[in-house]
Amino acid sequence: MHELALTQSILHIVEEAVKGHEVQRVKEVRLKIGDYSGVVTESLTYYFGLLSRDTPAQDAVLKLEKLPILMTCRDCGWSGEINKHHIECPQCRGINLRLDQGREFYVESIEVE
Ligand SMILES: [Zn+2]
Repeated sequence: MHELALTQSILHIVEEAVKGHEVQRVKEVRLKIGDYSGVVTESLTYYFGLLSRDTPAQDAVLKLEKLPILMTCRDCGWSGEINKHHIECPQCRGINLRLDQGREFYVESIEVE
């Protein structure tokens, strides 16, 4: 996907958040990532290490929390967790599904010192 651009926007959010505060360093940045978002977390970690140099987020720990894919079946009403490699309703085998959770990508919290 576009992990480079995503990392740039994360760092932008962090910089905006610490602006105007007496922050010595950012200790931790916590992200929530839906399992259906297509984000490659390894690339994200890599770019973060690279791009955070000489910013307040240098040496910050990037914590990635994955959110499972939750769907509701429009045919039989079943709802629950779905494996992204096997997208069908486990109850009726239908594929008329609504995505309830899984595409999220956001900064959950920023811990500073
Ligand atoms: Zn169903």
